Parts: sequence; C-alpha cells; structure tokens
Amino acid sequence: MTPEYSRREFLGTASGLTAGAVIAPGLAAQAAAPAVHVRKSSTNVAVASGNGLRAVAKAGELMAQGVDTLDAAIEGVKIQELDPNDPSVGYGGLPNENGVVQLDASCMHGPTKRAGAVGALEGIKTPSVVAKYVLLYTDHIFLVGEGAKKFALSYGFKEEDLLTDSSRQRWLRWRANRSESDDWINVDEDEQMVPRPTGTINCNVVNANGDISSVTTTSGLSWKIPGRVGDSPIIGAGQYTDNDVGAAGSTGRGESNIKVCGAFLTVEFMRRGLKPADAAVETLRRVVATSEPRLLDEHGRPRFSLNFYAVNKNGEFGAGSVYPSRYAAFDGSEALRLDTAYLYERDA
Ligand code: ASP
Repeated sequence: MTPEYSRREFLGTASGLTAGAVIAPGLAAQAAAPAVHVRKSSTNVAVASGNGLRAVAKAGELMAQGVDTLDAAIEGVKIQELDPNDPSVGYGGLPNENGVVQLDASCMHGPTKRAGAVGALEGIKTPSVVAKYVLLYTDHIFLVGEGAKKFALSYGFKEEDLLTDSSRQRWLRWRANRSESDDWINVDEDEQMVPRPTGTINCNVVNANGDISSVTTTSGLSWKIPGRVGDSPIIGAGQYTDNDVGAAGSTGRGESNIKVCGAFLTVEFMRRGLKPADAAVETLRRVVATSEPRLLDEHGRPRFSLNFYAVNKNGEFGAGSVYPSRYAAFDGSEALRLDTAYLYERDA
C-alpha cells in the first residue's frame, strides 16, 4: 500500500530557534532558501493541538505496532470526537445558531498522496473517519451537508443526536442572552456574555519510515451561521501533508487561516528549510499581514487566536501561536504538553 517515497537531505537554512522561542524579525529573508530533506531519525512522532495529549499517545502507540500513519492519527483524534466533555469536536460539540451540531473534518495520507474532507456534516460522531472514507472510496475530495451524511450512512455510520445536555444548555443560554431586542427572555440578567468558545483537534504524524499523515476535526465556531464551513475541512488550511517534507495543521480562527492557506504555507516554509515551529510562526506573520483592521487591536495585534502545529520528515516538530499557548506531542517515547513559539506576549 505504501509506495516508494524519495529520501532527501534536509539542507535548509533553519533559524536555529526551537519551540518556545519568540521568533526573530528578519526570518522571512531566510525562508527563501530552497531545501531538500534526508530522513535521519527513525522514531514515530505525533504533534497535535493542546487537547490532543491522548491523541498523540494513541497515535504513537499504534505507529509502534506498525499501524498506518493516517489510521494512527485518526484513532488518536477519535478519542476527542467521541468524548462528550470536549465541546469543540464531534459528540458534545457546540452547535450552530439554530442549535444543530455541524461538523467539519479533513485528512491527508502522504504515501498515497490522497485527501478527503467533509463539511457541515450533521448526526455523525466521527467526521474524521467519514473524511477518510471520502479519501479511500471516492474520486472526490470534499463532500458537504446532506450529501456527506448520506455518504456516511451508506457505509453504516449511525445517525445520532450530537447535542449533550451540557452543550444544549450552553446553546440555550447563548440564545437567551444574545440580544436585548429579540423574543427570547434572558436567562440571567446579571450574566456576562462570555467569549465565544472555540476548539478543534489537529494531529500530524510521521512514522519510523518517514511516512506522514495529518487530520483535523471540529464542531467549528460555536453559534455559527448554519452552513458556515471553517478552515478545518479545507485541504491546505485545516491541515496539509507532503510526504517529502512534512505536515501541518491548525486550530483557532478559521477565517483568518483560510485566507493564507496556512497549513500548506507552513509545509512550504518547512520545504524551504525552516524548522516546524519557525515555519508555523512565519505563517502567523502572514496571517497578521492579511488581517482586516477590525480584527486587530490598536497595536496591530490580532484580537483572535490561531495556532499551527507542524512536523517534518525528520521527526522534528513544533507549534506556533499568536499568543502563548500549549500543544501536545509524542516525541518517540512519551506524550508531552509543550509551549508554543508565539508572536506576541499577552498584556498583563
Ligand atoms: N478552526 C475552527 C474553525 O474555524 C475553530 C477552532 O479551531 O477553534 O472552525
């Protein structure tokens, strides 16, 4: 199943920065140098968003047993999809403005150069697996809405109510409080509107042979307009794999990621020689540069969060964020929670 892949030497102009470092100005100039990669390490590595500690541990364990990289990554993120207590993914995810959970997911398999995705999928707990079925069984890449659901049902996926009591209560409270001038009576007049909850899981893996895969799955922006699709199911935004270079993926404000094709761009920066964390931060610089003024504060800093997670073919990994954040990684021996590299300190 796994075709030959080219072994190349990593000769880039890596900046030398490691995860956790704030990136230095002037990196953009270094990013122009071309680089090719030779795989030196022979470890299984996984990198994921901060909610992915169990995912990276599972992916690492499965790759050690020889399980394919995409299957390992998907089995990892499925833990969050099936967890009713993760309000940002799969079952128990926060719904759209009508109270309906609509899920987005995408994946790529490096060795076979294939991709699959689903958007605005209702009633199926594991959209990452449906995305894999699109990848495996169709000549298409992206199915949405009713068509994506019918496709899943045809393979025996069960239709279920994805709202938990807790996610329904949070939605009802949001609906009641959202406006003074609608017909819904506020639940609690004193209650402050909390920032809109977000979340997603992205997982990127490389195995001991240097084969690479990536997956991202989410319930998207809570209270979104029905039909809104974020970055997660968009190949090149929510995640991207190139088996010669590495993989990257994202969580956070999807609209800002889509405009820069951030996962693709991060892989391209790695191709040119940047280390994973530096590539992620370089992509975030592009995000800031392409942000409309209403999304920036008086110092030009984003009013939103966005993170990128990346691994290269050598098994080097890292993550970047707008503001300090955490991510999860399996480094070949253990699952760890680590600090991201970031663009700006948060105000005290
Ligand atoms: N990226 C997701 C989206 O825009 C949301 C998130 O990660 O918080 O749908």
